[in-house]
Amino acid sequence: MINQNDEFQEIRSAVRALCADFPDEYFRTLDAQRAYPEKFVDALIQAGWLSAMIPEEYGGSGLGLTAASVIMEEINRCGGNSGAVHGQMYNMGTVLRNGSRAQKEKYLPRIAAGELRIQSMAVTEPTTGTDTTKLKTTAVRKDDRYVINGQKVWISRVQHSDLMILLARTTPLAEVRKKSEGMSIFIVDVKEALSRGMTARPIPNMVNHETNELFFDNLEIPAENLIGAEGQGFRYILDGLNAERTLIAAECIGDGYWFIERATRYANERVVFDRPIGKNQGVQFPIAAAYIEVEAANLMRYEAARLFDTHLPCGAQANMAKYLAAKASWEAANVCLQTYGGFGFACEYDIERKFRETRLYQVAPISTNLIFSYVAEHLLGLPRSF
Ligand SMILES: Cc1cc2nc3c(=O)[nH]c(=O)nc-3n(C[C@H](O)[C@H](O)[C@H](O)COP(=O)(O)OP(=O)(O)OC[C@H]3O[C@@H](n4cnc5c(N)ncnc54)[C@H](O)[C@@H]3O)c2cc1C
Repeated sequence: MINQNDEFQEIRSAVRALCADFPDEYFRTLDAQRAYPEKFVDALIQAGWLSAMIPEEYGGSGLGLTAASVIMEEINRCGGNSGAVHGQMYNMGTVLRNGSRAQKEKYLPRIAAGELRIQSMAVTEPTTGTDTTKLKTTAVRKDDRYVINGQKVWISRVQHSDLMILLARTTPLAEVRKKSEGMSIFIVDVKEALSRGMTARPIPNMVNHETNELFFDNLEIPAENLIGAEGQGFRYILDGLNAERTLIAAECIGDGYWFIERATRYANERVVFDRPIGKNQGVQFPIAAAYIEVEAANLMRYEAARLFDTHLPCGAQANMAKYLAAKASWEAANVCLQTYGGFGFACEYDIERKFRETRLYQVAPISTNLIFSYVAEHLLGLPRSF
């Protein structure tokens, strides 16, 4: 029914085959327990899907962002949630683009081999939120180490990752020329950090997503764990966000198709007033409208990925793809819930679970207002508002 005649059929079939071993019931049970899909993630790692973007010279498959986004899309389209794993795709890119040769040789082959996970990135802080350049976590150089103090919030997958990318201020805000300068990124060995000054406190939340408050109390990390040049970390993080946004857009597209397929099937099967509910245009038109929106958002997702893969600027397209896809998947979710009527609220149909999951994308990893602000200021030349 749904047009997917792209050149990624082999990837799609292989990911679908893997996902078939993890049916709705698997994710539903874990959702009720708020437990991490460990077996599913292991299977993805063993099959090499999470090292798709690691270059072949470091043991990965050397695929581009477009192919990686297809992997994420298929996971969500099969009823799963890429939120358990997507960090590995873009955090690896931060090391690849900005790390030293020694760092790449140390980490990337082991990530590709499935021995290490680099699932976490710690940027957001409780008091400063979206105003990232005001973040308060500090990294102070002391001989051959940096000493970290401060706090982060909403840091995902920490309990299921070996490595974490941390953004901290190395030069006080008052001493920098531009507020985006003076921040640096570090590779943190999670297990070591948890025994030497970092505390993680899980945040119970609306979806089955492992995310945490982090507290740093004189955590010492080796100076060699600094990625790239001191003071340039914010720029490095921004470079990685286009990949993240495009991958998230693909996940939303996967969700969107999942909702439309479920809604269509149910509308054909459910008989009320002696006819399938889908015979009523009041039921079928919203499903058709949601499908159109997902298809349109999908075009922008492919455009963002294409530009990224050809090393052209893609910030505008990545932001717009994320906005359009998150909106389309949310509308599809709403239509699907409405089509199911009361049964949409029953856990056994999985609609309410996916409904909650896809809602997150309006807020994280970037909220819709901040995308509007980017487009208004950077594409349309409207005055900067903050
Ligand atoms: C489940 C989950 C997982 C997450 N995982 C991670 C992670 O792994 N790593 C990480 O670093 N962060 C993570 N985040 C944090 C996420 O990126 C932020 O929640 C998000 O960027 C919004 O920031 P905030 O929550 O601080 O909202 P705030 O900055 O407090 O903003 C609140 C609301 O006000 C709006 N707003 C704020 N300022 C303006 C303005 N000037 N104009 C218009 N509107 C404005 C925002 O759009 C938002 O809707 C996660 C969040 C969630 C919920």
